[in-house]
Amino acid sequence: MKISEILKNNKVTVSFEMFPPKEWSKIENTKAVVREMSKAKPAFMSVTYGAAGTTSGFTTEIANEIKARGVTPLSHLTCLTSTKDKISSVINELKQNNIENILALRGDIPKDFVFPDEQHFHYAYELVNTIKEQGDFCIGGACYPEVHPESANKVEDIQYLKEKVDCGLDFITTQMFFDNDVFYNFRENCAIKGINIPIIAGIMPITNANQIKRSVELSGCKFPKKFEKIIERFGENPAAMKQAGIIYATEQIIDLMANGQNNIHIYTMNKPDVAEAIMKGLSEIINE
Ligand code: FAD
Repeated sequence: MKISEILKNNKVTVSFEMFPPKEWSKIENTKAVVREMSKAKPAFMSVTYGAAGTTSGFTTEIANEIKARGVTPLSHLTCLTSTKDKISSVINELKQNNIENILALRGDIPKDFVFPDEQHFHYAYELVNTIKEQGDFCIGGACYPEVHPESANKVEDIQYLKEKVDCGLDFITTQMFFDNDVFYNFRENCAIKGINIPIIAGIMPITNANQIKRSVELSGCKFPKKFEKIIERFGENPAAMKQAGIIYATEQIIDLMANGQNNIHIYTMNKPDVAEAIMKGLSEIINE
């Protein structure tokens, strides 16, 4: 099923993100994670794409497993470090496997990377155009409530986002954020800019102290005082930090829903117990 259909009528949706294994020998473990996670009945499940595309087959394999569990899969695809030919073959592979949804991404710039030539795409919008040429996919893109780290400012960032959306995106999913006010501002700016497709809010439950540094490095997002205090108090106690992180994410989602945000994507980090605990905390709220 296309995610654009799932997002119709502004119904509440909670979806999950997971990542594929780095080595083929771990594929069965990741499939077991899919099986566990699908029991919580997410609206759809996305599977990320490894940097440089060396594990692209793993993403398709996991997307197929998601489909086999009766959940709609969303396959991520990055373009910066792959040739246009490689990208075309991955899109064809997705088509042959009846994967209907692609999250079109540029990918992060690796360290010491030489910016690519005409054999490569430079930006995600070019990938969106190619996906559209190659098939009838539902296409999503990424967006950044706290501004993409490479962007000079908010104005430039949202201008490029608008251009990407106008290439034919069906929805956008946000980078993680921990302060809902940042998201509400971003949502307003999108509306002012005429970005009218569904915006899915990406929520990352922080369940251990190691995740904190990595999340900030990857996304550049800021933690509000309230969350800093939680980390200060519970960061050294794994069980307490996990519980506090689950509750913080659940409260963030409740506040988002109370403020009219019906589409939520949980960055599960392949932890079915965390996904399940959040869904339990929302059981009546989702079905309200
Ligand atoms: P773009 O939309 O191309 O934007 C990149 C930068 O270029 C921005 O600063 C933008 O403002 C600027 N820009 C855009 N168009 C132009 C233009 N025409 N001229 C000049 N500047 C321009 N990474 C992975 O490796 N695998 C994943 O599976 C993955 N999944 C993700 C899922 C989500 C929801 C998010 C938010 C991010 C994900 N990422 C993933 C990370 C992502 O690849 C990086 O954040 C990357 O740096 C930017 O990707 P993008 O698609 O947003 O790029």
